[in-house]
Amino acid sequence: MDFKFSQEQEKLREEVRDFLEEELRQGSFEPSCDAWIMGHSPEFTRKVAQRGWIGLNWPKEYGGQGRSYIDRLILTEEMLRYGAPAACHWFADRQIGRSLVAFGTEEQRRELLPSIVRGEAYVGLGLSEPEAGSDLASLQTRAIEDGDDFIIDGQKVWTSGAQSVNYIYLAVRTDPEVPKHKGISEFIVETNLPGITIRPLTDITGGQHFNEVFFDSARVPKKCLIGEKDRGWYQIVSQLDYERSGMERLMGNYPLLKALIDFTKETKRNGKPLSQEALIRHKLAQLEIELEVGRLLIYRVALVMDEGRVPNWEAAMAKTYGTTFEQCLASTAIEILGLYGQLLGGSKLVPIQGMASQSYLASQGYSLQGGTSEILKNIIALRKLELPSA
Ligand SMILES: Cc1cc2nc3c(=O)[nH]c(=O)nc-3n(C[C@H](O)[C@H](O)[C@H](O)COP(=O)(O)OP(=O)(O)OC[C@H]3O[C@@H](n4cnc5c(N)ncnc54)[C@H](O)[C@@H]3O)c2cc1C
Repeated sequence: MDFKFSQEQEKLREEVRDFLEEELRQGSFEPSCDAWIMGHSPEFTRKVAQRGWIGLNWPKEYGGQGRSYIDRLILTEEMLRYGAPAACHWFADRQIGRSLVAFGTEEQRRELLPSIVRGEAYVGLGLSEPEAGSDLASLQTRAIEDGDDFIIDGQKVWTSGAQSVNYIYLAVRTDPEVPKHKGISEFIVETNLPGITIRPLTDITGGQHFNEVFFDSARVPKKCLIGEKDRGWYQIVSQLDYERSGMERLMGNYPLLKALIDFTKETKRNGKPLSQEALIRHKLAQLEIELEVGRLLIYRVALVMDEGRVPNWEAAMAKTYGTTFEQCLASTAIEILGLYGQLLGGSKLVPIQGMASQSYLASQGYSLQGGTSEILKNIIALRKLELPSA
């Protein structure tokens, strides 16, 4: 086992840090928690694209750089460390592009991948429905063939960023007569088509980042079908491993950790900086241990992918661990900040811009989105421990 990064990888990390430092100096963004999913900045995405950092590990023939998953992980780790607003391109870069490379037609790859790489095409994920979350295969949104098109009817829910994207990657039922896993297909659909309505939902933080998406006889050309009709389930399963495997499951709230450590150095209680209190030092040290363990779990997933293997239980383990860490980080921050830590941003009295309370609320959803911790533990029990199916 070799824990060292190559010289080229160290160089990439330095380049990304220099870029982000410069952007901070120019005031192009403020570090914020959850910026990978909430920070929609087309301008920032364009700048990232100009450096060739979208589709970093996709084949060169489609505009990518042909680099490794570890390289992409280094890039995304730094974006998260700086709380950079990368939401416009994150989903397409993380999983949709790879799915198109694996299952898309040549026409779809030639048309869509370069526009994602240029930072122009943003894609949301239309999987969950009101009655289909963990048991995704029971989804009911229907697509019926009609000449050169499919007609889509139904509803998706919790679709992150749908109000800001120009495409939705959609899982729908194309054959209701066969067992549920066998009649699903995937489409990539433009969000401005007639018959598609996007309605934002207010989440626990008061923000509106996810949506209901309604399909009312939306006519979608057949060329938007991804891969084989009725084989979508097998494509979705591999896509979910990409979705669960990234550093955003551990470091989405890194700006909070950094601000918390600074706060303890700068704030005195009873004449002494908080950072000199044994209890507080130990809490912060414990977080650091857990962060490091989480990083290793996630780097292992990238290594597995670079070796061409499917990181199924590895991704499940990394996400379960990472999201538990983020919830623990938010609780620890609230404990250290005391009652003022519970105030939301906007109040004069709130410490560290209200990041603690915002993260405390937002992190409740982390162990739901992208597969709940219970479902992920079922995967670990089945595939890693080889326990019989329940
Ligand atoms: C912030 C956020 C963003 C999201 N973004 C998107 C998005 O962009 N696109 C998208 O398609 N979806 C998105 N989702 C939806 C997410 O994928 C679902 O919430 C998740 O899959 C769980 O489905 P559900 O909410 O229907 O809960 P359910 O499946 O109804 O589960 C309810 C509870 O029962 C437990 N449970 C269910 N089945 C089992 C089982 N077999 N064994 C043990 N326990 C079980 C679950 O763990 C959970 O605690 C998002 C969710 C959140 C919170």
